[in-house]
Amino acid sequence: DPAGQQQILARLQQENIRFLRLQFTDILGGIKNIEVPQGQFAKAVRGEVMFDGSAVEGFTRIEESDMLLQPDLSTFLVLPQFSREEGERGKTARMICDVRLPDGTPFEGDPRQVLRRQIERAAQLGYTLHCGPEPEFFLFERSPEGAGTTRTNDQAGYFDLAPIDRGERIRREITNKLVEMGFEIESAHHEVAPGQHEIDFRYADALRTADNIATFKFAVKRVALEHGLLASFLPKPVAGTNGSGMHCHLSLFRDGQNAFADPDSEYGLSRVAQQFIAGLLEHASGMVAITNPLVNSYKRLVPGFEAPINIAWSTSNRSALVRIPAKRGNSTRAEFRMPDPSCNPYLALAVMLAAGLDGIEQNLEPPPAIQRNIFRMTVREKRHHKIRELPTNLSEAIEALERDEVISAALGDHVLEHFAEAKRQEWNAYSATVHQWELDRYLDGV
Ligand code: GLU
Ligand code: MG
Ligand code: MG
Repeated sequence: DPAGQQQILARLQQENIRFLRLQFTDILGGIKNIEVPQGQFAKAVRGEVMFDGSAVEGFTRIEESDMLLQPDLSTFLVLPQFSREEGERGKTARMICDVRLPDGTPFEGDPRQVLRRQIERAAQLGYTLHCGPEPEFFLFERSPEGAGTTRTNDQAGYFDLAPIDRGERIRREITNKLVEMGFEIESAHHEVAPGQHEIDFRYADALRTADNIATFKFAVKRVALEHGLLASFLPKPVAGTNGSGMHCHLSLFRDGQNAFADPDSEYGLSRVAQQFIAGLLEHASGMVAITNPLVNSYKRLVPGFEAPINIAWSTSNRSALVRIPAKRGNSTRAEFRMPDPSCNPYLALAVMLAAGLDGIEQNLEPPPAIQRNIFRMTVREKRHHKIRELPTNLSEAIEALERDEVISAALGDHVLEHFAEAKRQEWNAYSATVHQWELDRYLDGV
């Protein structure tokens, strides 16, 4: 749209922007930037900047190595200054891009494209997915040389108020920066573990939310770095205490109305909501490799730390995979508690949506809601309620992903193959490592 492009070019000039960052993500969720100077702005805005795709993780296919970045003009953002040097260098703006092949067709290995396909599928049925994410993270100290540690600089717990410590102060600064970047922050609080925090921002449609999560993680890490701290989205950095999840509050909208709400039915949930929940449960094991993609992710998914392991839903209990918060009416939603913040947000939202839509298309029925704490149930009780468990490690998760035709199809061959291969390598490297636990446990005893 040439008019839109002209507007962006005018803004770049008015705001005296010196550098324009073209942002996209690779299959594993790493944020990539190609930065262009003023002389290239017109070309960049028209989507004519090329890069070598073979240099990007998961994009490698020699015959497709030249790719184009098509900026999504609605993601234009003037970045705040995170440090004095940045201020002196001149202002930078960014746009998030779709990746295209030289002939202009969308690249099937682009995670944003994978999400767009599911959004389109939902639109065919008349639905728009809304998602409000709850990313948790730790703030850790750095060594004098700047290396990350797992030392926290506070001892506070959930919602602790006083005395305000360094972590708390920095969380406020992070929040201020996010507001400067256009985020609507709904709440920011200390989480259960020492050094653990959560900042929730307002829900949006799926594409916007995935963009927001990518931007959020960048900003949190950047502000922490400025204060000599490490912000980590690792799901389980410290054993024996809570890990970091990224619960996703999901709802479908139709004609501007929440399609999950139905005051006349059980729990106030519409038929569509129940089908969607059934789809999430049906495909939980198949999609966990995408929503929880690290070896370390499965150390969060253990009993006792408010993270789910049981494939069940509940209107009250936090031990379930899907919880229905008390809000009804237009705020009716399902809280999907499985994902962690190390996931690629585009792929994670794509598979959640694919799972839910499959529930609708197949007219799936959710099992009865479980209102008890599942962590306290015996194996027999769980069997009686037919409660299955999630895969317990990344290797099992990859196998479950490849067995799940709905989730595999949602990713497409290119992403599925590259993702599974990268994750198998990761698992093999981990398996071949001798860990401190083994030495502590066995060295002297055998
Ligand atoms: N940290 C918990 C998790 O790993 C969630 C705690 C909460 O309910 O906010 O999912
Ligand atoms: Mg939380
Ligand atoms: Mg939550």
